[in-house]
Amino acid sequence: MTQPLLLLTNDDGYTSEGLQVLADALEGLGEVWVVAPDRENSAVSHALTLSRPLRMTRLADRRFVVDGTPTDCVTLGICQVLKDRNPDLVISGINFGANMGDDVHYSGTVSAAFEAVILGVPAIAVSQVVGEGFSFHFAAKFARLLAERVLERGLPAATLLNVNVPPGPPAGIAFCRLGKRRYTEGVVEDTDPRGRTCYWIGGGAPVWEPIPGTDFHEVASGFVAITPLQLDMTDHQLLATLQREAAQWRLSAR
Ligand code: MN
Repeated sequence: MTQPLLLLTNDDGYTSEGLQVLADALEGLGEVWVVAPDRENSAVSHALTLSRPLRMTRLADRRFVVDGTPTDCVTLGICQVLKDRNPDLVISGINFGANMGDDVHYSGTVSAAFEAVILGVPAIAVSQVVGEGFSFHFAAKFARLLAERVLERGLPAATLLNVNVPPGPPAGIAFCRLGKRRYTEGVVEDTDPRGRTCYWIGGGAPVWEPIPGTDFHEVASGFVAITPLQLDMTDHQLLATLQREAAQWRLSAR
């Protein structure tokens, strides 16, 4: 059997330790290609660059940087760099910091994995929760094991696995759902050096709801949290209700 073709990207930028440790850990499992942003792109979500041309620079054999977003990188990776050879798996990460609960919507790391799924390639997003004594090495080792299993077992189309690794030595593995986070102080007002008012978003300390069976809860209990995420954001339950109760809405398009 030929070696699996693995495409790596991230949102922290090409030089981030998490990506480099991941690339090293996957060496030998398959043919590892990296197409990553040339700088930090955290919280850019699923942004795609359409208003200017993109530049891609080859840094070494199978290693490229793009002056764009993580989604741009996956698009160029699949549709340009590896256009004649479909990758078997895209792995995004290892992100510096958690991507759990509602935060997956802001995450460039998770969105890059979603872009792969949109383009028909199975994907995993891996994030390292930062805390005392953390290192990327366990997350990288685990990412390799999970990649191996996904290559063996496959994933449903339009679904990815979102992985968050706790800072200390993990107590085990938990399959779980997304949790709920609260921002205690959504916007912080400040004054810039020129005396003008400015604002920081997300300046307050994050607080998560302690709901068992959620990623936040499992990671806080020392487990590696694995959450399957699907691209289809349709609320199928509400859709069925709306269709049943359509007449009660008394809506008209005319
Ligand atoms: Mn990041």
